[in-house]
Amino acid sequence: MYDVLIIGGGPGGYAAAIRAAQLGGSVGLIDASDLGGTCVNRGCIPSKIWMRAAYIKNMIEHSEEFGLKTAAPGLDLNALVNRKKEVGQGIRGGMTALLKKNKVEVITGRAVLKGSGEVAVDNKRYAAKNIIIATGSSISVPEIKGLKDALLTSDELFDLTDLPKTMLVLGDGPIEVELASLMVAFGTKTTLVIPGRRILPNEDHDTSLRLTLALQEQGLAIVNNSVVESVGKSENGFQAVVGDKALEADRILVAKRQPNTSNLGLEAAGIKTDENGFIAVNNKLETSAKGVYAIGDVTGGWMLSHAASAMAIAASENAMGGDSSFRSSLVPRGLWTSPEMAAVGLTEEEAEKAGYDVEVGDFPYPVNGLAMLRGQVDGGVKIISDAEHKEILGVHIVGAGATEIIGEAVMALQLECTAEELAHTMRLHPTFSECIMDSARDVEGWALYLPPK
Ligand code: FAD
Repeated sequence: MYDVLIIGGGPGGYAAAIRAAQLGGSVGLIDASDLGGTCVNRGCIPSKIWMRAAYIKNMIEHSEEFGLKTAAPGLDLNALVNRKKEVGQGIRGGMTALLKKNKVEVITGRAVLKGSGEVAVDNKRYAAKNIIIATGSSISVPEIKGLKDALLTSDELFDLTDLPKTMLVLGDGPIEVELASLMVAFGTKTTLVIPGRRILPNEDHDTSLRLTLALQEQGLAIVNNSVVESVGKSENGFQAVVGDKALEADRILVAKRQPNTSNLGLEAAGIKTDENGFIAVNNKLETSAKGVYAIGDVTGGWMLSHAASAMAIAASENAMGGDSSFRSSLVPRGLWTSPEMAAVGLTEEEAEKAGYDVEVGDFPYPVNGLAMLRGQVDGGVKIISDAEHKEILGVHIVGAGATEIIGEAVMALQLECTAEELAHTMRLHPTFSECIMDSARDVEGWALYLPPK
């Protein structure tokens, strides 16, 4: 009998296994496929390898601004696909070794819950005092007539060795926006078809606007308030019917996610799901069944690797007798677009809705020294703060380095820092992180490098 038996070896399950083992538990980890889950094999790692290639390409194309004469970069996608494979292998190898060192027993196969602390894998049964479900998510293809032939999923994208000349990307979420920007960077004529008014509807409206303007300038077309109704063959590829428009594309990219819960035995184990099929959990990551926890993408919310691993730590600590909570309000979000985007905490709209007397600071990248010298002036840092208690409620960054400097905003929120405290900190000069300090000074009404208001 295991103390903790985990289903799924993605970033959630892997972190849960190590944490439970650190706390002295006997731990089993079941995965139906390759360790690393979506993140290592089809998500974060492959996409960021491709985004890095796009970034380097852009650097080379702009190298003359820094006095460097180089030839236009050619593209060898085989090398990129090989890099993805090699990096994935390396990470999976490291995971296997670390699990072994932590004495975690890895079981390969598809798990089915059998109720009251039992899990079946093929014909074998495993008993556990606690079970953690970390089965993640997978692609959800919308039912659109004729889509099948034109369909390209994000699972397949990073194995392409030939890029389509034209592409439609369906959806307004972070994965769709990031991949659309990637395609643009590689020269594919790309159109993002979004159901609402703006991209990234869960992010602050200024973030959405800043990123939209930058991506449109790079050549991304956005068709808003629209969905693809049907797809048919055309002379050169496919034609998607979108309202009264017919959009031409070689391929149509879909990256929407759904929870991996089918045939998992949730009903037998008495585990409830929410209205969208995600496993319902409280902030201790407990499900409706005693001794069964769920973490990561399968629980919905912010479907991100670091959220999965933060949930994993809390779930394993609780399974091992602790009392830990997961704070979804502190989950940072990011996009590795050019410029990057990153955020943590409440948007301006959310803060207002929650009844706060909202104060806003905004510091534009064009005034930042490093941004100027590097020619990376798209963006800005927006801080949302509570006028009454002065606590920082949210930080929203569009700009170079955003995905790194958001870390200090996460820390500020976690430590319940005020805008005044942040305004009186120092940064190395010249750095992008100065924008966070300057934006806090703007909240306080004394941004040194902005004209008086
Ligand atoms: P998963 O990683 O999905 O792992 C679940 C595991 O469970 C899989 O290995 C699967 O084989 C296994 N499994 C499922 N069912 C069973 C079963 N019945 N029995 C046994 N095993 C089972 N997140 C970020 O934070 N940053 C990023 O930059 C980022 N980029 C992304 C880019 C793309 C294109 C995509 C698609 C996702 C991206 N994500 C990113 C999201 C991230 O990949 C997920 O949030 C993360 O992988 C979720 O981790 P998880 O452990 O919950 O599930």
